[in-house]
Amino acid sequence: MTQHFIVVGNPIAHSKSPEIHAQFAAQTGIDIRYQRQYCPDDAASFTALLEAFFHGGGVGANVTVPFKQVAYACCAARGGLSEHAKVAGAVNTLWLNTTLLKNGASVSEAIYGDNTDGQGLVNHILSLGWPLAGTRVALIGAGGAARGVILPLIQAGIGDLSIANRTVSKAEELACELSAASDVIDAHAISTCATSELTGAFDIIINATSIGLSGETLPLAYTLTAHYAYDMMYGRTLPFLQHFAARGAQTSDGYGMLIGQAALSFERWTTQKVDVAVATAALHDKALHDK
Ligand code: NDP
Repeated sequence: MTQHFIVVGNPIAHSKSPEIHAQFAAQTGIDIRYQRQYCPDDAASFTALLEAFFHGGGVGANVTVPFKQVAYACCAARGGLSEHAKVAGAVNTLWLNTTLLKNGASVSEAIYGDNTDGQGLVNHILSLGWPLAGTRVALIGAGGAARGVILPLIQAGIGDLSIANRTVSKAEELACELSAASDVIDAHAISTCATSELTGAFDIIINATSIGLSGETLPLAYTLTAHYAYDMMYGRTLPFLQHFAARGAQTSDGYGMLIGQAALSFERWTTQKVDVAVATAALHDKALHDK
């Protein structure tokens, strides 16, 4: 029987998720239909859309900009949240909590949320052969993407975390909020500063800002160095990566993270693991990356 999935966003036409999940379906032999779903940008429309989808027999949903926080609130009030979603304050993967359904909950009451973005990043970094355990990490950005990667980075054993953000107060708030949400994150162990004030030698530096969308370049100090530089954006020439590559760093864009977070969603829904390297190669062959 065909299993139905959607990715909800606004805008949504650019989403590569249907192609990625079609590749996973081809790998596993699972019969799926995965569609892009536009939604007006308000919480009531989003919740009504999700409830209708699951009432209609839908198996799982992804959500993207601008609905990850709305999805968090929706699941918090219904079927619950994974630890990663709780700490991230954002949900990108939803399905029905079968335990609640068995105990008599309605479909609407059983909508459950997880966040696979951060683990997708960590899995990609590890697949590149970059070290994480004991490393000194600088994370630039304090938005949804930055929030989602901190718990997985800490669980991967990083030694030290600095969060830099254009608006430094948001970096400070993020560090405090995260430690309140999880007993493995100590806000006092995280240093914060403005992006332009980030200096020193790091093992890994991660760009989790959306500055690249506008074609602008981050103001980076000359004395800022890293062995490895990762940009969560993908699919175009990224000045952030060029900056560190010119100083001898190994670099990667966020394309592997995109495939990695999708693979984890697919696994949550179907219990089937997929080969991310196979999917990455197949999708590159279709020139998905540069579109
Ligand atoms: P948010 O809007 O939540 O956060 C944006 C962040 O970027 C904030 O920290 C903001 O700083 C900073 N920023 C924006 N413009 C500038 C600027 N001109 N100069 C300096 N800093 C700036 O976005 P998200 O966190 O959701 O997404 C961030 C990026 O991560 C996006 O490019 C997104 O595409 C990418 N992403 C990639 C994924 C993948 O799978 N590869 C998954 C998820 C996200 P301030 O607080 O000062 O406004």
